[in-house]
Amino acid sequence: MNDTVTGLILSQADYRDHDVMLRVMTKEYGLIGFIAAGARKMTSKNAGSILPLTKAEIHFDYKEGKTLFRLKTARTREFFRNIHENLELSAAASVAADVCMHMCQDNPAGATEEYELLETALSGLNENRPHALVLSLYLSDMMKLFGIAADVDECVRCGATTVSAISAKEGGFLCGECAASLGVTQSGVSELKRFRLIVKGGLRHIDMIEKVSASFERDLETLVEMLRLHAGIELRSFAFYKRFCH
Ligand SMILES: [Zn+2]
Repeated sequence: MNDTVTGLILSQADYRDHDVMLRVMTKEYGLIGFIAAGARKMTSKNAGSILPLTKAEIHFDYKEGKTLFRLKTARTREFFRNIHENLELSAAASVAADVCMHMCQDNPAGATEEYELLETALSGLNENRPHALVLSLYLSDMMKLFGIAADVDECVRCGATTVSAISAKEGGFLCGECAASLGVTQSGVSELKRFRLIVKGGLRHIDMIEKVSASFERDLETLVEMLRLHAGIELRSFAFYKRFCH
């Protein structure tokens, strides 16, 4: 069946001969793969339209039950120019793509929310929003969607409502006593508030959250660490990102 899909291209890898394999996040089918035959040949008409970190319209034959398809033609719909012209932004966008690939790889068909969150994150980066904030909000939204959000309502150990520390390992806030007994360093009030805003607010409230701080690196570190400890996801792109952006 002839089908058209609009998707966010997350990665491109060399495949047999002159072919490349793409991993693409789509609203309709979730995370799927495409083989673009001959895309590494100079004469390829598709080569310029299948760049990672762009949005493309792809024509292909859909077969039910498959997750890898043969790409017929592709056309760029959104290039995210600023991301491609700025090393920091492209490193940040790669982290978002990496998160999506890890978290959506076992998804059944259909992933509207996951798709839209990634598109919002890439647009935010392209608009030059603070990249650590965009990534923090994207991560916290994805973690919420997958049921592993940080608990920022009370101490995760004892339920006390007066909190004074953040622990990635424990999965959220700790009260003073629990923090002391676990040897976790206490955080300032503004840091606790900022982290709570990020977890509660998400990408939808970026305008408001952007105003509360000039730096969101620590929040991002905490969320990446939570993803590693609680979902077993190791983001290799994050080490690369940190070398440029911290
Ligand atoms: Zn406690």
